[in-house]
Amino acid sequence: MKISNVEVKDLVNTYGSPLYVYNQRMIEDKLNAFKNCLKSSEFECDVIYASKAFNCKAMIQLVSKMDCSLDAVSGGELYTAYAAGFDMARVYFHGNNKSMDELKMALKYKVGTIIVDNLMEAQLLSELAKNIDYTVSILLRVNPGIEAHTHEYIVTANIDSKFGISIEKKSGILELIQIINACPNLSFDGFHAHIGSQIFDKEAFVQEVNKVCEFVSNLGVDVSTLNFGGGFGAVYTDEDTPIPVDIVCDTLIEAVKCNIEKYALNINKICIEPGRSIVAEAGSTVYTVGFMKETPHKNYIFVDGGMSDNIRPALYQAKYSCVIDGKENEMASKHYKVAGKCCESGDVIIEDAYLPEAKPNDLLVVKTTGAYGYSMASHYNKACGLPVIFCKDGNSQCVIRGENYEDLIRLENDLCA
Ligand SMILES: *Cc1c(COP(=O)(O)O)cnc(C)c1O
Repeated sequence: MKISNVEVKDLVNTYGSPLYVYNQRMIEDKLNAFKNCLKSSEFECDVIYASKAFNCKAMIQLVSKMDCSLDAVSGGELYTAYAAGFDMARVYFHGNNKSMDELKMALKYKVGTIIVDNLMEAQLLSELAKNIDYTVSILLRVNPGIEAHTHEYIVTANIDSKFGISIEKKSGILELIQIINACPNLSFDGFHAHIGSQIFDKEAFVQEVNKVCEFVSNLGVDVSTLNFGGGFGAVYTDEDTPIPVDIVCDTLIEAVKCNIEKYALNINKICIEPGRSIVAEAGSTVYTVGFMKETPHKNYIFVDGGMSDNIRPALYQAKYSCVIDGKENEMASKHYKVAGKCCESGDVIIEDAYLPEAKPNDLLVVKTTGAYGYSMASHYNKACGLPVIFCKDGNSQCVIRGENYEDLIRLENDLCA
């Protein structure tokens, strides 16, 4: 099988196994799709890639090349953006517990927008920003009381979320805005909300827009920017039916327009922050089949990776699909449980993969691992980090080298007493 016209077995011959592979063309197409669909003649639109889904210099440079903005949530993500040469004015800095060092770092790098999460952060930031020589745009993260995942969304849910300030707390929000506006280098521009992930029901986004706009209309403060977060879905298995990008963008734009009219709002910029939907489907993990084992009820395939490179099945029962390289067109004949090599019974990649007959040394390609795979990887069992390869139109490039055993101990000191 090929990924952007590169043979998977050639990748393994060149870079080893296991590895993460991205179809760079697909990432570019996704970013373009969001940019082209999120457009309005009435307000400015910004597509911000939520980099926590997959963050490395090459990915950030791709975001820059595609003329999108970047969402960073930690000093490490800020540092990587800076090291990648990203235009820091286009960075949106998030987080519910940014440290003083991280806030100082953001101001030193002249990050364009900081999304303030809470009152204590507003107080600290207004102190730190006293002596800077530029103006930071400030959005306040609010919790609209909507939580959405896959097919379900719940209104008035999760008012105790650790993220943002509940839109029910109007006086607290007004106090926070005053603190921001009292600092001449901070400009309060609007609100941010993010209601969940892998959302398949466009009504959830309409509810989000409605709730945030209604709240803004009652606030009595000038608001120019609204950021509705991410959460757009990806296809992991054929059970997944995400909303197409054009429809999700049209839905958001229409909902915002309706609310602008209804409440006579002065919104002149809206933002979205897709993460998963940009990179998930573009990424695959290539493993080599090792030992196989039959138990009374299962046929196991063991692969040369596992929960150390993909924690999502263990963490939230995430489902994946896979193919065996070279057998894509053969009839499936056997149910396999695909497990990794880590010392955990929960180290399963796919509980039930219906595949053609597999044998040792087959290459197993697990699809849609591009989001929250590499970024949530661990060194459990001293597993080496996998290389990350970008493929585009018949060419491949290693954007993150795989770790070797020396890398694994490079930070370690010998016991001295
Ligand atoms: C995680 C996150 C996103 C991206 O979510 P996806 O489901 O990957 O699209 C966007 N904005 C914020 C604030 C987030 O925390």
